[in-house]
Amino acid sequence: MAELETVRDIGWKLTAYCNCDRCNDIPKTKTESGHIISENDHQFICAAPKDIPFGTEITITGGWNGKVRVEERADGVIGKRLDIFQKDHASVIAFGVKNDCNIEYQIKMAKLS
Ligand SMILES: [Zn+2]
Repeated sequence: MAELETVRDIGWKLTAYCNCDRCNDIPKTKTESGHIISENDHQFICAAPKDIPFGTEITITGGWNGKVRVEERADGVIGKRLDIFQKDHASVIAFGVKNDCNIEYQIKMAKLS
């Protein structure tokens, strides 16, 4: 059995990426999780550190407001950092860096008996 536990944290940094050759050496059709990338994913999917499982929905407030789903991993996305997918590179530049964000998500915890 697994129980859902709510995780809340502060002080997260948000950056953005897109599928251009500046953000990815080779444009990708699928994320690390196997999700097929579409234009509709704009600001709805993200890369997150490995301790947040794929499929987790994260609500972000503070420096930016939105809800994103973890579908990607990236070398630089470690610690308190999320990388939010954008539809093009102009949007990546416009997004910039958002500091001091609050995050909240639910995670399945193995039940300790
Ligand atoms: Zn880009």
